[in-house]
Amino acid sequence: MSITTGTGTSMTTTEVERAEARTAHNYHPLPVVLAHGEGAWMTDVDGKRFLDLLAGYSALNFGHSHPRLIGAAHAQLDKLTLTSRAFIHDAFADFCAALGDLCGKELVLPMNTGAEAVETAIKVSRKWGYEVKGVPADQARIIVASGNFHGRTTTIVGFSDDPDARDGFGPFTPGFDTVPYGDLAALEAAITPNTVAVLIEPIQGEGGVVIPPEGYLRGVREVCTRERVLFAADEIQAGLGRTGRTFACDHEGVVPDLYVLGKALGGGIVPVSAVVGNRDVLGVLKPGQHGSTFGGNPLACAVGHEVVQMLATGEHQTRAAELGEILRERLEALVGKGIVGFRVRGLWAGIDIDPAIGTGREVCERLMARGVLAKDTHGSTIRLAPPLVISEDDLHWGIDQLAAVLV
Ligand SMILES: *Cc1c(COP(=O)(O)O)cnc(C)c1O
Repeated sequence: MSITTGTGTSMTTTEVERAEARTAHNYHPLPVVLAHGEGAWMTDVDGKRFLDLLAGYSALNFGHSHPRLIGAAHAQLDKLTLTSRAFIHDAFADFCAALGDLCGKELVLPMNTGAEAVETAIKVSRKWGYEVKGVPADQARIIVASGNFHGRTTTIVGFSDDPDARDGFGPFTPGFDTVPYGDLAALEAAITPNTVAVLIEPIQGEGGVVIPPEGYLRGVREVCTRERVLFAADEIQAGLGRTGRTFACDHEGVVPDLYVLGKALGGGIVPVSAVVGNRDVLGVLKPGQHGSTFGGNPLACAVGHEVVQMLATGEHQTRAAELGEILRERLEALVGKGIVGFRVRGLWAGIDIDPAIGTGREVCERLMARGVLAKDTHGSTIRLAPPLVISEDDLHWGIDQLAAVLV
């Protein structure tokens, strides 16, 4: 089925032009215009179907239009959507208790976007440093890793080492020290009496699904405990089932002081983020010291609560682990056939394309022509993060298309 206008121009061409004419060009989207989504599939304005192998950068872990999530959203929409935190609403306590239980922590601080949750973790860590650890006023330091991606606010891009993310946006917030990702000795050496937190991704998503050496996260946990420094794990992309466990930290049996969550927490419907920790840390915030008009709103809580209930059974995590093994086997067979290297954890892969084949962008364009949507990260790396509900057959079909465009 192909819907065309009177001049013979496809709806896609028209909509791409209209979108580009009236938006800031802070993205370079593939020229596809989507109108419908269900499970792992999307349909464009011309009726063409695409397999979604990006899943909104893991915001769509449960796929498009999951009936349980859409049902929870609809039910809440008909009752109450926003109160602000000036009042308490009846979906709030259940969501916070369920998310706290999922994380094994006492308290939840709900926000909206991932960047806001990261900012929250930074503020909480600094306040904890001054009030609990005894760091002198305005001297707190936070250790971050090279190649990090924690969001797009001015403070956060200030400790990015990606020139695109950072250049032209200074002056930046001071108080951050960068160490090489995966290098425990460097991290240990960077700790000073004024260090209040280590903020890292347990797996670097935007960096290209970079998995640190085995034992790194355990080492970070040990060093942080010994030196009295908070371990804040940014699980916004890695967490909530993607890696085959609830949290990427679970692979090393590590529990951070602060879980920083987002993306999939909103079920692909609304932005929902949170910082989750114990009373001795999150308890430093008093009324008026932090907040958000939309954070923890009724719709967000209803959807987030459903997400947490779906994760509580472990079935999505198991599925990610099982499908991830298929993904690994299929990618192994492609090494030397257009792929020079890859990293897989659960249903999540960073694939380094042989530069002779083309850039990551070019490979994604060729995939699009074959009905598969994926996204390059840096240069010649492609990230695959299919919805965890994808069928085994569809996953095989998607990788068949990848194999075909690599020749
Ligand atoms: C996407 C992402 C963020 C930022 O989340 P937004 O909702 O886009 O602000 C932060 N950290 C990580 C690891 C991410 O993947």
